[in-house]
Amino acid sequence: MRKNKLGIVGGGLAGLSLAIQAARKGFEVTLFEKNTYPFHRVCGEYISLESYDFIERLGVPLSAWNLPVIKELEITSPKGTRLSEALPLGGFGLSRYQIDFELVQIARSLGVLILEKHTVSKIDYLTATDSFIISANQQTWEVDCCVGSFGKKSNLDVAWKRPFVQSQETRLNNYLGVKYHLRTDFPKDKIALHNFVDGYCGISAIEDDKYCLCYLTTAQNLKKSGSKLEQMHEQVLFRNPYLKSIFANADFLFSEPVTISQISFEPKTLVENHVLLLGDAAGMITPLCGNGMSMALHGSKIAFEWIDKYANGIISRYELETQFTTSWNQLFKRRLWVGRQIQAQFGSEFQTEVLLRSLKPFPFIVKKIISLTHGKPF
Ligand SMILES: Cc1cc2nc3c(=O)[nH]c(=O)nc-3n(C[C@H](O)[C@H](O)[C@H](O)COP(=O)(O)OP(=O)(O)OC[C@H]3O[C@@H](n4cnc5c(N)ncnc54)[C@H](O)[C@@H]3O)c2cc1C
Repeated sequence: MRKNKLGIVGGGLAGLSLAIQAARKGFEVTLFEKNTYPFHRVCGEYISLESYDFIERLGVPLSAWNLPVIKELEITSPKGTRLSEALPLGGFGLSRYQIDFELVQIARSLGVLILEKHTVSKIDYLTATDSFIISANQQTWEVDCCVGSFGKKSNLDVAWKRPFVQSQETRLNNYLGVKYHLRTDFPKDKIALHNFVDGYCGISAIEDDKYCLCYLTTAQNLKKSGSKLEQMHEQVLFRNPYLKSIFANADFLFSEPVTISQISFEPKTLVENHVLLLGDAAGMITPLCGNGMSMALHGSKIAFEWIDKYANGIISRYELETQFTTSWNQLFKRRLWVGRQIQAQFGSEFQTEVLLRSLKPFPFIVKKIISLTHGKPF
């Protein structure tokens, strides 16, 4: 008997793209999402071109949307030193508000049951029936296969006591992300990464002549500024002259920024209680690499290949879990490690200054480092 009832917990890029692939192959898919679409998320909204073809194959008409194509990277230090380099592959700009909502509509048209405002509180694996019971909003659903694509931080991480939630490193060193949309005067083919003490801020163009400005910093940095964003901007971010100028001259389109806290970049487990984990739930690459969305999408592609084989009785559940883990590690483990090493090089004003000045005469090294954090088109 075909085991094709699939439950997906979390409707970001990983969950939605998996839902579309499975629905096209005749799976009965239920996707649980705690929010209501469309909504804004903290994300730099720079998508590596390695995902372009895959996203189009999912049914998103990227080429019809006339999106900005980003070919150049600029990095600045808090003291204003600037390094510019052509990106080896490049990317394009598109808001999560638009792409996620488009994927939701495609998934729905293929028959995926999308349950919004449903926060999954529990996932039980039943050995006797080799199935899962998913609990949300005082109701339960039984499925053959369950995938957790619930992002960087979820109640389920805490419920499962996942090691990264418990670790001393995460408790001491958790991160905060802040995002704005704005209109400003900035080249559309460029992404800038402006560093400040204990953080960095990306800016690049998205659809409709808008720009996304998104930064990552430590929770400690905010605490030192009396837990007030404006105060932290004044005291820390604006020491970088480029950031000071953007904040002074841009037209901000949100009344309040979108924020997220308690982000961890530590390695994570890939299977919990027989649930396969995807996207940020499986491991988060540091945002300065601009590759998290592509990893979420590519991860869904490899997961679906194994899920499909399992559903058709070609491999066992044990093989599903081990094969998925092996494929995921082969593709992404090194990228995550490189991302953590690069992020560790930024932080102090002195360190960033020395790094940028030493890299400036060696553009091929910059290109090589960028390539190590990216994959090939899939
Ligand atoms: C500051 C910052 C900047 C970034 N910039 C970039 C960039 O420019 N380019 C790039 O490629 N990547 C970037 N990233 C990374 C990128 O945003 C993520 O890698 C990507 O969003 C991962 O997608 P996902 O599907 O795993 O998770 P998400 O998109 O976070 O989706 C997870 C979903 O699960 C839902 N959920 C959680 N718990 C539950 C539950 N219990 N029940 C039901 N639903 C639940 C959430 O509401 C959410 O909708 C950035 C990240 C940060 C923090």
